Formats: sequence, structure tokens, C-alpha cells
Amino acid sequence: MSTSNSFGTVYLVGAGPGDPQLITVRGKELLRTADVIVYDRLAHPALLQHTRKDAEKVYVGKASANHAMRQPDINALIVARAQEGKSVVRLKGGDPFVFGRGGEEAEVCHEAGVPFEIVPGVTSAIAAPAYAGIPVTHRDAASSFAIVTGHERDDSRESGTRAPGVAEQRRDWSKLAHAADTLIFLMGVEALPEITARLQEHGRSPETPVALVQWGTWTRQRVVTGTLETIAERVREANLKPPAVCIVGDVVKLRESLKWFDDPNTRPLFGKRIVVTRAREQASALSDLLRSRGAEPLEFPVIRIAPLEDTTPIDAILRILDTFDWVILTSANAVPILAARLRALGLDSRAFAKTKIATIGPATAEALQQQLSLRADFVPTEAVAEAILEQFPDADIAGKRILIPRASEAREILPDKLAEKGAMVFVVPIYETLFDGEAVEELRTQLHEGEIDAITFTSSSTVRNFVQAITEGSDLPASTLIGTTKLVAIGPITADTAQEFGLTLATVASEHTIPGLVSALEATFQTESTHV
Ligand code: SAH
Repeated sequence: MSTSNSFGTVYLVGAGPGDPQLITVRGKELLRTADVIVYDRLAHPALLQHTRKDAEKVYVGKASANHAMRQPDINALIVARAQEGKSVVRLKGGDPFVFGRGGEEAEVCHEAGVPFEIVPGVTSAIAAPAYAGIPVTHRDAASSFAIVTGHERDDSRESGTRAPGVAEQRRDWSKLAHAADTLIFLMGVEALPEITARLQEHGRSPETPVALVQWGTWTRQRVVTGTLETIAERVREANLKPPAVCIVGDVVKLRESLKWFDDPNTRPLFGKRIVVTRAREQASALSDLLRSRGAEPLEFPVIRIAPLEDTTPIDAILRILDTFDWVILTSANAVPILAARLRALGLDSRAFAKTKIATIGPATAEALQQQLSLRADFVPTEAVAEAILEQFPDADIAGKRILIPRASEAREILPDKLAEKGAMVFVVPIYETLFDGEAVEELRTQLHEGEIDAITFTSSSTVRNFVQAITEGSDLPASTLIGTTKLVAIGPITADTAQEFGLTLATVASEHTIPGLVSALEATFQTESTHV
């Protein structure tokens, strides 16, 4: 039997209200290292991207009660895994101790002698109003707020069915109605007619402003406003369902001037889900810009770069690098692999002393500078193989020895044309691009269900990789799999590649930069909405 010394720790981690950037630094760090992650439907799926590839991920809350894991089973699971010596993150929507039954889970750990820690989170009770432009206090409108459970059945779906607790049964409406200037109800959608009736019965004015914020801080956030008298009917008409936070009080009026997150004037891509096709390391600039314009960027890690296991060919070449006139790097992906092989062989950047280096574009040149402290001798004005050939600085390359370390599957145009001109070309595959089957499947499902508004292409290779990835293991052509989702390209070369694959673009950016691409996207959606 193990002793408590060998038990793993259970971390009750607040996932934040939805927006995946609202998790705490501590929470994200724990997600990265945990052996086991137990999560439910209020935790944004993008958070799982931070987890280890081999971590066990257990989903315990489907929208339908039959599929939800019951609370006693969740308790048993987290304790059992910790007793096996594993570190367990119990990821809970919002803050773990605000109606999240985190207290109960901590008690179970305590009783089992399992060490636990609490990582507080940003609660939806405050964040959902904030993302709707409603401050829960304001010097002119409210000096206190109370967070109350509306106790609807939906609550049970997050973590197994249950009866109301003792504290909930004791709820006293005459006190509650005046508990604070701002009343915030969680789990209050189904009971809304009762809540609004009771508050009026106990002296809150029928004119009191009320807002419901559904899926607050998510890109699918929806807000319905009214008064204690009108809100129940408006919510019914809008067919607004849980999860939603209900805010009662004068602060709700501030939304008129403080609305921001779901304001199409300042954030024109609000609510749009847009696929970013670059490899994750390169995706962040585009993702950040999309986010700041209101969109939800979906970084699909469909492609993974894997160094080839057999390093004999590249190792042999690196040892005699000084016999080569040129090295041509056709992707930034090659740089870290070359750096790693040099290190493994006990060599360093001086191996390149007698050899000139060409990179296909500025990003590869930058990687070279960063990782090997080497400056590229030649970077063509456009990042395509054709441009390297046209602009190559050596007028006569006949007899020159040229090394091209690259992916095992790649276009042949560069080596072929160089060889035609009489160069001695050595192509050495050093890595392969692999598909993450699960991510591809997920992408295909979302496309099929119309959940994706647009796909962005920032280079010809993103088109090629994307098409290759989504058609992998499917008989359907890419255009069918993509359906009516809008496709946007950064420029004409990328657009040509897309057309070669039979894809129809919604638009091509007129300025061939990341901001240009985002402007083009906005323009497409704008024309769309003015036509409706
Ligand atoms: N611990 C969570 C609350 C769990 S109870 C927290 O601190 O946020 C579940 C209820 O929280 C839901 O029924 C809903 O009322 C509310 N809720 C959670 N996330 C929400 C969101 N993103 N938008 C609106 N309401 C949310």
C-alpha cells in the first residue's frame, strides 16, 4: 500500500469564465504539467491545448445529464488517481469555490489524506457582466453585490444530479431581495420567472434593470436586457438557455455606454470563429490580431514537425560542410534541427564558415540569426523557390556544390532547376510533417457542422498543408470538406495555390500582410451583413 507521501496532489483549478486567456498563470502552469485533467463543459476546450500530449483527459460533463459523470464518481476518480501518485488537475469553470462544488471535492481529498491545492479563478459572476459592459459596483449605482444561486436543474448537468443543499433550501427571499444593490444569479435561467416575481413581491421595483449574459466571455456571448417586469418574457422570446448569469440592479444601465466585447463597431469580427492554419509557433501574431477584433482564432495543430530518426545522412554531411559552396534553407523548420545535430556532433556555427547560406524568406533568416547566430548571405524578395532561382547571386552555378536540407516530402522544382544549370545538388531530408489525426477529425466535424466562419491562408505552404491534412484519410475533395466556409488568402501567390487545389476564395488581401489579411476578412463579413 502506498503511504500519503507517495500520493499525488489534487489541484482544484479555476478555468475562468470561458475566454481561454482568462485562466490564471498558476492554472496554466499546472495544466502543462498535470498527469490527469478532469474537466467539464464550462472550461473552454482551447485550454486543453496547454496539456501534455500523454496526459489523461477525462471529460465529466456532457450537456445531457445521462452522460455526465456523477459527483461521487468524480470524487472517487480524483482521489484514486492521486493515490496512484499522479498529479491531478480538476479544472472547473470560473472559480472552483463559487457554486462549483469545489468545497465538496476538497473535503473528499482531505478525508482521503490526499494533498490538495486551490487555484482560484475568474468567476463568471463578475466576468460575464464585465464582458457585457456591466460593472457589478459603481459609485453612482451600487455599493454592494451579492452572488446567489438560482438553483436550476441545469446545474446538475455540470457534475451529476443532486438535490438542493441545505443552504439553498434556507434561501429567504425577503432578505435576498435587499441583500445588496446588485444581485447576481447563477443558474437562474430556468427559475427566472420565479426569481423576478419574488424580488418584486419583496419590494424591488418592477422597473429595476436586468440583464442576462449567456456564454459570457465566449465568442458566442449573447446578452438580453429588460426590467424585473419584462425580462422573463424577453428571455423566453430570445430562446436564451443556460449557462447564463443574471444581473439585477441599476448597474445594468451602464451597458448602454460601456458595451465593448460584443460591440460590432469596435470589434467587427465579434463572434466569428476563424481558423489559423500556420504551425502554432508562427500563428500567434495573426491570432492576437483576430482576437483584438473580436474573433475566436482556432489554431489547429494539424501539422507537426518531426525530425527524422535516422540522422546518418545529415550527420555525415555536416562533418564535411566546408566542401559545400551553398546551403539553401527552404523553411525555418530546418534551423532548429540543424542546430541540434551540430550540437550532437560536438560542432557549432563555425561548421558554416566556408559555406554561403540562402534562406527562402525573412522568417527563416531570422531563425538562423536567433538559433545559430548566422546571417543569411541571400534572401530573395519573395519567399518562393522560383524567386531563389531567378535572383540567385552566383551568376554561374555550374559545378557548385549545393546542400538542401529539408522535409522528406517537398516540391522538386528547386533542386531540379539548380541541377539543370549544372549545380551538384545534395537534397538531404531531415524532418517530416505529420498530421495530428485527432485535431484533423475535430476540424472536419466543425466544418461539417458549419461552426467555422472562415479559414485564413498566409502562404502557399499553409494551403498545401491544410489541404493535405483535411483530406488525409477521407475520400472527399478539400472543397467539399470546406463547404461554404469563407477562405481568405494573404496574396495572389497563395490564392493561385488555393485555386490549383480547386478552392474558391472569398477574398484576397490587397495588402499582403497579417493586418491586410484581417482587414480583408472584415470587409468580407461586412458586405455579407449589409446584404442580409
Ligand atoms: N464556478 C463557476 C460557477 C459554476 S455554477 C463560476 O465561478 O463561474 C454554473 C453556472 O455558472 C451556470 O449555470 C451559469 O449561471 C454560470 N456560468 C458559468 N460560466 C458562465 C458563462 N461563461 N457565462 C454565463 N454564465 C456562466
